[in-house]
Amino acid sequence: MIMRQFNIDCDGILSDYCGRALDWINGGGLMAPSGVAKTYDEITHWDIFGPRALNLPHLKDAFAEFERSKGFVSGMKPLPGARAAVAILRKYFDLMVVTSPSHKSNHWVFERTVWLDDHFGITPDEIIYAKRKSRVSGDYLLDDSLDNCEKWVSVNKGRAFLWDAPYNRGKALPPHVKRVRAWDELYREVGVYP
Ligand SMILES: [Mg+2]
Repeated sequence: MIMRQFNIDCDGILSDYCGRALDWINGGGLMAPSGVAKTYDEITHWDIFGPRALNLPHLKDAFAEFERSKGFVSGMKPLPGARAAVAILRKYFDLMVVTSPSHKSNHWVFERTVWLDDHFGITPDEIIYAKRKSRVSGDYLLDDSLDNCEKWVSVNKGRAFLWDAPYNRGKALPPHVKRVRAWDELYREVGVYP
């Protein structure tokens, strides 16, 4: 039997990119001038150091350098619940991690490939590195980027699920894109009852 293909994003779904940034800001001696720790709920825009999110423009370049450095990707934590979700989804679907490569870092793709194996047992034949995720066909996409979801449903027949986050709220969703706030909600949408 051919299994339906489920494309799953990595950052914000499996890996805690925002947590990595917040740990760096709050714990790395780079505390905001106010001295008040920054929180996930304050990351209300993709440009996380910009005025619509954390508003720490003076840290932007230093963070970009950190992001490029060895150990940035391998030091991310898996998001809570993600390991169990991957185990469940793999039973029902041909699960493919579709994640954007970084051409700015010598370490990103290598570390991510190892990280996915270490934390999830996901092997290289279950990973597709693609920035234009719309070109990766499948039955479903789960992503925390509305832009990725919108573009994906515009050229694929399947359904996209937008993983709810403070930085992707406030815009109407097009047909075939559904916001989900928890794994149980996603399971119901795709007819999985673990
Ligand atoms: Mg993402």
